[in-house]
Amino acid sequence: MAKRDYYEVLGVDRSASSEELKKAYRKVAMKYHPDRNPGDEEAEEKFKEASEAFEVLSDQGKRQRYDQFGHSAEGLGDGFSGFSQGAGFGDIFGDIFGEFFGGGGDRRGQRGERGSDLQYNLEIKFEDAAFGTSRELDIPRMETCNTCGGLGARSQSDIETCNNCGGTGQQRIQQGFFSVATTCAACSGRGQTIRNVCNTCHGRTRVKKTRKIRVNIPAGVDTGSRIKLSGEGEHGSNGGPNGDLYIVLRVEDHPVFEREGADLFCEVPISFTQAALGSEIEVPTLEGKARLKIPAGTQSHKIFRLRNKGVSQIRRPERGDLHVRAVIETPTNLTSKQKELLAEFEECCHETSHPLRDKFFDSIKNLFS
Ligand SMILES: [Zn+2]
Ligand SMILES: [Zn+2]
Repeated sequence: MAKRDYYEVLGVDRSASSEELKKAYRKVAMKYHPDRNPGDEEAEEKFKEASEAFEVLSDQGKRQRYDQFGHSAEGLGDGFSGFSQGAGFGDIFGDIFGEFFGGGGDRRGQRGERGSDLQYNLEIKFEDAAFGTSRELDIPRMETCNTCGGLGARSQSDIETCNNCGGTGQQRIQQGFFSVATTCAACSGRGQTIRNVCNTCHGRTRVKKTRKIRVNIPAGVDTGSRIKLSGEGEHGSNGGPNGDLYIVLRVEDHPVFEREGADLFCEVPISFTQAALGSEIEVPTLEGKARLKIPAGTQSHKIFRLRNKGVSQIRRPERGDLHVRAVIETPTNLTSKQKELLAEFEECCHETSHPLRDKFFDSIKNLFS
């Protein structure tokens, strides 16, 4: 089945702001959320479709690539970053879906809170992006307190049912004729109070730690690539799941190579005698120098392709190519001897020496005669 346009899926304009995107996604996702449509496969497909559209359009880099190349754009759903319900998902649904789906009477603190997602911006070398690498990063994050195991109390017996709300986490207050339920002020909705708090986390159940985390960066990543490390974000509280860690990459420029996807480009200056007579020159590759044959009669800006000398690709076994552009450098600072030789050379040029030049000036002549 052909993929639908992401903007169409969300029902927004191509110029929609990120706020409008969020709003539109919220609407579609609420309607088709699996919790509201149990067993309805079509709804589930629609939900997935909308989530995927939002995942791409809410990411500045991916949206740009999608706008330019459509569904065939690279890196929209890379195997390694994958479609996730990470980043934006929690922010958007934490409040709304909490009420709709988690809601009802059971809002007691025992249902833990998910840890936040974390983003780490990492700059890597050009070669490391081309061949892949592995890095150890210091990630500061909230982790479950080791002393109390996330209890927040010195011992299990220090945890008591809240007197104020009787453990429901909610209290009712009178407003005019109405009785309104609000979060219990005494226990902040947890339904429990602690007699003796843990000395390490002071009842907060989590502590700030800096954790060394090794990240494998696959060959072929580019600026804007995102690597998801599931569960390596901040720890959840009260037994809630951990958030995810996202490594967002920026690749340093290379002094010689320009990169476009998996292909590399570089310019190599050659002399006009090399171009005219033909020669073998040395060209740079990611793996060091290589020899390249320049045939006699090569014109300036001619591109020579070295297959498989480009960058590795994430989803394909073959590498990109290296495109070497031969640029002819006109000699300067000539000695009188050189000038003499060149003048002599010009003297003995014949009609097939410079066919382009001769043809061009002929056509000009006709133009103004
Ligand atoms: Zn309470
Ligand atoms: Zn503790």
